[in-house]
Amino acid sequence: MPAAARPSAALDTAAWDAAHAELVELLRDLIRIPTVNPPDPAGPELDAARYLASVLEGEGLAPEVFEPVAGRGSVSVTLRGDGTGGEPLLLLSHLDVVPANAADGWTHGPFDADVADGYVWGRGAVDMKNMVALETTVVRVLARRARQAGVDPRRDPIPGLRRDVVFTCTADEEAGGIHGVAWLAAHRPETLRAAGALNEAGGVSVEFAGRRFYPIGVAEKGFEVFRITVHGTWGHGSMPRDDNALVLAAEAVRRLASPGEPRVTSPIGEFLDGVAAALPAEPAALVRAIGGDDVRRSEAAIRALCDPVSARAIRALIRDSISPDVLHAGVKYNVIPGQAVLDVDYRTLPGTTPEDALEEVLARLGDLAARCTIEHVIGRSPVENERGELYRLLADTIRAHDPDGVPVPVMVPFATDAKTTALELGVPTYGFTPMRLAPGEPFLARFHGVDERIGLDALRWGLPVLYDVVAAYCG
Ligand SMILES: [Zn+2]
Repeated sequence: MPAAARPSAALDTAAWDAAHAELVELLRDLIRIPTVNPPDPAGPELDAARYLASVLEGEGLAPEVFEPVAGRGSVSVTLRGDGTGGEPLLLLSHLDVVPANAADGWTHGPFDADVADGYVWGRGAVDMKNMVALETTVVRVLARRARQAGVDPRRDPIPGLRRDVVFTCTADEEAGGIHGVAWLAAHRPETLRAAGALNEAGGVSVEFAGRRFYPIGVAEKGFEVFRITVHGTWGHGSMPRDDNALVLAAEAVRRLASPGEPRVTSPIGEFLDGVAAALPAEPAALVRAIGGDDVRRSEAAIRALCDPVSARAIRALIRDSISPDVLHAGVKYNVIPGQAVLDVDYRTLPGTTPEDALEEVLARLGDLAARCTIEHVIGRSPVENERGELYRLLADTIRAHDPDGVPVPVMVPFATDAKTTALELGVPTYGFTPMRLAPGEPFLARFHGVDERIGLDALRWGLPVLYDVVAAYCG
């Protein structure tokens, strides 16, 4: 199949409008199920998984719901291809959301799923019930077309599919995936094994210097969490001590938090090159300066080009970063603490090992290291996927639907379920939730934010894009 073909053209505009209307209602139903993680009590993720299963059953499919511990549910279904096209394509998403409190100033209740001003409002509208709804709708359209052709989608290959499409929607992504993707990888790997996967964190348009870009997620930073116990001496607060553990910890925090040296790895180098190549000379030179050797010019270019959220992201993507995030010390106002416990979130670029990270922590602590014991709590390596056939198809499909749009590969600073699919199962997992946003519309800032919402038009644009990727890759 030629890469830029549009299989979605087989359905007319009215059919896509109807599918979009269905998608929006599905998204609203999902937002109304408060799948907050950590759950209190558990249950809503299972409710959402069962709800999705009922929608898929309604299309004549046979989904399976998994409940590894009470109330934590994931759901998976396979659309069969005829087997001549290779390993499956995985449509991956997660059901859970981070907490949201209406009292924090939401314009519309975070679980009301109001449609207003051209948006669907609510927790999960961008992370990532939008993609759950997009992927589910593509599966519904495929299943429905099969039934119209007289095929039983539960049993028979779907006409036009040469490889399987596996749809898997997980619990527990926001807390590390133990009861979701990690459980599936260990116990039901067939729900995740694929030649490639589409997941959150990429494929969304961003306007920059007058051009529209679509960063496609090809890489994720890794993370290493260290617990540093600072040892001082207990004493009476009336007679201060130099080795007050809290004072020592404060100095440790200062040393750890200072930004490290930039290092441009290939995903971000390709991103900056791709953006620069599409821009006029002046902004292009600034973009190239971000990845250049001169740290001061790099920082000046970031300040000149980026809004505050993008600036924090790009700074985090050109260096290993350390964020001290928890500090516990002290028992009473007049007792000098003899111990302080500090948790630091160390995010690693491709090429940085856990040993490198520990070495850097020790180097930052310097003379304080002798007063510290350091425990490695948890860590995951960075992810970097090949830019092969599936990546090229994602980029070509974006161009086919938005000829002025510029797809570019990108790395994200955080972790997703791709840590499991890519690192443990070897499935290249791309951040690709195709949506064309209105000019000036922020996106990154809405993740986990107040007034999380997604544009109806953005979803309407993305639906046939996703369908074309699925139909072309599997056809
Ligand atoms: Zn997410």
